[in-house]
Amino acid sequence: MKALINIDYTYDFVATAGVLTTGLAGQKIEAALCQVTQEFITAGDFVVLAVDGHDPHDQYHPENKLFPPHNVIGTSGRELYGQLKNIYQEHQTQCYWLDKRHYSAFCGTDLDLRLRERKITELHLVGVCTDICVLHTAVDAYNLGYELVIHESAVASFDATGHMWALNHFKNTLGATII
Ligand code: ZN
Repeated sequence: MKALINIDYTYDFVATAGVLTTGLAGQKIEAALCQVTQEFITAGDFVVLAVDGHDPHDQYHPENKLFPPHNVIGTSGRELYGQLKNIYQEHQTQCYWLDKRHYSAFCGTDLDLRLRERKITELHLVGVCTDICVLHTAVDAYNLGYELVIHESAVASFDATGHMWALNHFKNTLGATII
């Protein structure tokens, strides 16, 4: 069984005016990311929307020292970007909204349990940023024994060098299939 993990494709990470935006690189993957998401929904496969949720007043969270406040809980910056928002609204019952506090979708969440109870062994990853949240999710998935498929046309980063490095890392170090 397979699942799609759709990572951080929100206003703050993608829109031109987003706080921590990947800009054009992130906007360019919208069609491919939405197509893959729609295919998984149509096939009846498990679709997870793993979305950063932050409290800028949390003095204990390391990201508050590293980045400007982004994907703040209760703000429009956390809304899904572009057509993905419509797809989610139309198919909410088939999608699992996963709030996450750290880069990895597995960190401090019930994602592993949700996947295992569905006998899912193969994870397809899309979203942003290739070399931050997608990377950390992929590393955790690898360590938990999942097979990985990365959709190259549906991942992006604000850092082109980091993006390329991460794609090589997925393939050569995590044994991922890049399609
Ligand atoms: Zn964050």
